[in-house]
Amino acid sequence: MSPTIATLAALAAFPTVSSESNEALIRYAARRITEAGGRIHLLAGAQPGKFNMLASLGPSTGAGIVLSGHSDVVPVTGQDWHSDPFTLTERQGRLYARGASDMKGFLAAMLTAAERCDPAKLARPLHLAFSYDEEIGCVGVRDLLDRLRAERFQAQGCIIGEPTEMRVFTGHKGKVAGCVCCRGWAAHSANPALGCNAIMLAGAMLEEMRALQADLARGKRDDAFAFPFTSLQPGLIKGGVALNIVPDACDIAFEIRHLPGDDPQAIVARLREAGERLAAASPGGAVEIRVTNAYPGVETPPGAAVTRIALAAAGTQKTGKAGFGTEAGLFTQTLGLPAVICGPGSIDRAHKADEDVTPEELAACDAFLDRVIATLH
Ligand SMILES: [Zn+2]
Repeated sequence: MSPTIATLAALAAFPTVSSESNEALIRYAARRITEAGGRIHLLAGAQPGKFNMLASLGPSTGAGIVLSGHSDVVPVTGQDWHSDPFTLTERQGRLYARGASDMKGFLAAMLTAAERCDPAKLARPLHLAFSYDEEIGCVGVRDLLDRLRAERFQAQGCIIGEPTEMRVFTGHKGKVAGCVCCRGWAAHSANPALGCNAIMLAGAMLEEMRALQADLARGKRDDAFAFPFTSLQPGLIKGGVALNIVPDACDIAFEIRHLPGDDPQAIVARLREAGERLAAASPGGAVEIRVTNAYPGVETPPGAAVTRIALAAAGTQKTGKAGFGTEAGLFTQTLGLPAVICGPGSIDRAHKADEDVTPEELAACDAFLDRVIATLH
C-alpha cells in the first residue's frame, strides 16, 4: 500500500461531514506536517470545532505555491453504500470511501508530498491549505483568506485539488444562491379579495425568472461549459399554511450559476425590479430578494505561472473548465492568487454512494505534486 493510500485511509476515518467538527483531522494533518519540518498556522473557525490551517515548508519569504483542499465531506445519509463509508475499502482495484474523490485523496497526496520534500531544498515556500465547510457554499475558507490578506500573504498561485481526473481546469462558473421572498396578506379563503396571495405573487416571479433565463441564453456563451450560458433556476419553493387560508408567504430558493465574465448582481437587480413592479400591482404584497451565499467564478489566464506549472506537471498542454464550483475564485478575489483546479478522482463519482478513487489516480497525483514542488527548488 502506498503512503498516500495509507494516508487516505487515515483521513477517510475522520467523519468530517460539514455538520461535524473537523478538528481531529486538522490536528492529525498538523502533526504530520510538523514532523516533516513544516510550520503550522491554525485558525479557529467561527463555530466551535471548526478549523482552517495553512502549513508552510521551506523559506518564510518569497512567492511560493499553495496546494489547497477542503477537509469536509458531504453526508452519507440515505445512501446505499456497499461498505462503511468511513473505512477505506478496496474492491477490485478501486478504493471506496466518502471523500475518496472529493477530496481526501488530494489531501492525502498533499501530506505525503510534503513528507517526501526536503524543506532545506526549497528556494520558495510550499504552502498547504486545509479549509472547512466548503461543501455548504465555500464558507470556511473565507476566514483563512481574510486573515492571510491582513498578513499580506503572497504566493505565485494556488492549485485546488478538487477531482478533475488530473486534468488542469482554469475556470468555472460563479454562483449566487438566494431567496425570492414573496409576502402577502392572510385572509379566509372564502373571500380571497380580503387578502393578498403570496403564492400567486411567487408564480408571477417564476414567469419573470423564466423570461430572464431566456434573455441570458441570448447573451454571453462559453461552450467549454455543458450549459454554455449563465443560468438562473428556482430549486425549492415553500408557501402557504392551509387550503382555507390565503397564503401570506411564499419563498422561492434560487441559484444563479454565472459565466466568469457575467455580473450576477445585474441579474439580482433585475429580479429586484421585477419584484417591485409585481408587488406594486398587488396591494398588500411585497417581494424581497435575499442573497444567502455567493462565490466568484474563475477565469485564470493560460499564461499564468501556476497554469504553466500545473500543465507541465500534469504532462499536458490542454486546459479545461470545471462544471462545478470550488474555492479557487475566492483565492483569486481575496488574495489576487491565480488558481487552477487539478486533482485525483472524478466529480462524477463524488457525493454519492460508493464514492471511489483508484490507486493509479493517486499515484499520478503523487507524481504531479513532486513535479510542482520541484519548481520551488
Ligand atoms: Zn470538493
